[in-house]
Amino acid sequence: MIKVLVVEDDAQLVRALKINLQARKFEVQTASDGGSALRLAASRKPDVILLDLGLPDMDGIDVIKRVRESSSLPILVLSARHTSEEKILALDAGADDYVTKPFSMDELLARLRAAVRRREIPAPADEVSVVTTDDFTVDLIAKKVRRGDRSVRLTPTEWHLLEILISNPGRLISQQQLLLDVWGPTYSEHTNYLRVYMAQLRRKLEADPSHPRYLITEPGMGYRFEG
Ligand code: CA
Repeated sequence: MIKVLVVEDDAQLVRALKINLQARKFEVQTASDGGSALRLAASRKPDVILLDLGLPDMDGIDVIKRVRESSSLPILVLSARHTSEEKILALDAGADDYVTKPFSMDELLARLRAAVRRREIPAPADEVSVVTTDDFTVDLIAKKVRRGDRSVRLTPTEWHLLEILISNPGRLISQQQLLLDVWGPTYSEHTNYLRVYMAQLRRKLEADPSHPRYLITEPGMGYRFEG
């Protein structure tokens, strides 16, 4: 059973989410503020977090940052804030996806399943399992990235994106293909997601993120990994 931690201070919305999620066999835990969300995230080890950004005690963005210090579990943001800056801020802090209120329950459930599925995608077994560059090493089976002697922590979404690029060295992967594979069929217009995530990956992996050597942009077309 998939454990969902719902972090939301609107009691009515929590009730609706709980009924819908339990009906679809999710195990639901709820928290109405950021402090208890962080405690539950640490003690109950949920599989995915649904997180409202407007909480009574702290900003949801800070909840994302705190969770990311110790965990890469999928975080799906629920928010009434809908400027693209707010979305970028949440994604940049480590959220995996962003649903704007009001949302349909079907859309939310589809996004939730996609977030959980991304976490579970197995690495291809019959291909090269370790890719080494001058700056970092990626183990596709163990799902570990090392830079020098320290390990690099990636979120599930960052990992999935990197995995696709690295498994296809030298090959241009189109923006549409990446959006489809990583986020799903309703995301083909969200090229800003790709920009945000590629910037994050470069910050984590490239010696000079503004002049990438490995994660190359083909303007207007897509991205390519150069080993
Ligand atoms: Ca709220």
